[in-house]
Amino acid sequence: ATPTAVMVATGVGANHGVLIKGGDALERAQMVNYVVFDKTGTLTQGKATVTTAKVYTEMDRGEFLTLVASAEASSEHPLAKAIVEYAHHFHFFEDPSATTDIQYLEKEHKYSGWLLEAFDFTALPGRGVQCLINGKQILVGNRSLLTENGVAIPTDTENFMVELEESAKTGILVAYNGVLIGILGVADPLKREAAVVVEGLMKMGVKPVMVTGDNWRTAHAVAKELGIHDVRAEVMPAGKADVIRSFQKDGSTVAMVGDGINDSPALAAADVGMAIGAGTDIAIEAADYVLMRNNLEDVITAIDLSRKTFSRIR
Ligand code: ADP
Ligand code: MG
Repeated sequence: ATPTAVMVATGVGANHGVLIKGGDALERAQMVNYVVFDKTGTLTQGKATVTTAKVYTEMDRGEFLTLVASAEASSEHPLAKAIVEYAHHFHFFEDPSATTDIQYLEKEHKYSGWLLEAFDFTALPGRGVQCLINGKQILVGNRSLLTENGVAIPTDTENFMVELEESAKTGILVAYNGVLIGILGVADPLKREAAVVVEGLMKMGVKPVMVTGDNWRTAHAVAKELGIHDVRAEVMPAGKADVIRSFQKDGSTVAMVGDGINDSPALAAADVGMAIGAGTDIAIEAADYVLMRNNLEDVITAIDLSRKTFSRIR
């Protein structure tokens, strides 16, 4: 393609809210034969909602929710935002199912009054969060987070986790002072266009793959709804990049679509990294493309644009 054609294509992309960082990135997209999608915040809306909360201690519901939300308040993860929002609604409207714009709440500083102070906050990508509240350790996250910290998961809790996961939800466990005190069920609806985009890619001869840090039961339930057959679940951030490399080893050209900090190694490893515009800055920096409309149809737009731009001169 001539420099003019590249410039024109870059402009066409921009009109669709597809920002392309350079001519090389534009050229590589035509070759893509795998598109690897992150799940949470990429295939799903990332606007998760808490659907259940079970408390296993003497603690009342309000105390439990305050504790969990205080632990999650510093996390940027969509699951964390869902939990804080749920607790907020419990305290202020006594209707946790009502939804409010989280950014609005943040702007109004409505959280600060009821949250407890958390010390030594650590976000553990692919696992959850950990900090100290009232001098005791609190853990909020998945099975690995708890077991790695020596917290036992009773059979009835495990059974409830399985029940949530089989209905495509994520179970979030809460341990305080070394004891499991409750569990939250979180649902994260699929993006409206996700299934159509998966189908569209297959028609173009491109294989869709899902890679996620979430557990395999939830991952498979979500993939099934989308018609994705290749699913890699319970993958740590570094593992996501390994998945990309394993496809590249066969000589394939691989695109990665993601939104999170945990996706940035994979976005950098991919031949074509595509970040969701609403994603974290680190993901946007690591990517070659930014999809500003947060619409997965633009993955197809990007590949199409490259194919059209570079096939003309062949
Ligand atoms: P994905 O790859 O789908 O974007 P992540 O790698 O971000 O998912 O997270 C994987 C899993 O780790 C989540 O499904 C959840 O169980 C747990 N997790 C991660 N961050 C948090 C958090 N802030 N609060 C609770 N659980 C979390
Ligand atoms: Mg994500």
